Amino acid sequence: MKVLVVDDEKDVEMLFRMQFRREIASGEINLLFAFSGEEALTILHDHGKTDVVLVLSDINMPGMTGLELMERIKAEPPPLPVCMMTAYDNEEYRERASALGCAGYVSKPVDFTALKTRICELAG
Ligand SMILES: [Mg+2]
Repeated sequence: MKVLVVDDEKDVEMLFRMQFRREIASGEINLLFAFSGEEALTILHDHGKTDVVLVLSDINMPGMTGLELMERIKAEPPPLPVCMMTAYDNEEYRERASALGCAGYVSKPVDFTALKTRICELAG
């Protein structure tokens, strides 16, 4: 199964690769990375949405925000679970995110144990 991580901070890729090293090594999870909303849409278009169990996106990014990205993803079938990730937790973001059908809200720094549990739930 694939998880697409979208964040304009490049360090996030190394952090996720380290935290998921066992799952990556065993082939259980294939992590895909995008550094902007635009790039995320291109990746989903090129790879197809099959096997993608979760899109985990930062909210604050130059260009398309995570919320805008979620709106674009939700507008096209098949529906993909999208979780928002942010260090700037606020009520307005949470409300907008849940109105758009957000599958979860992840605060930074990321609790990877909780995230792995969520991924397993989404994968069924
Ligand atoms: Mg950011």
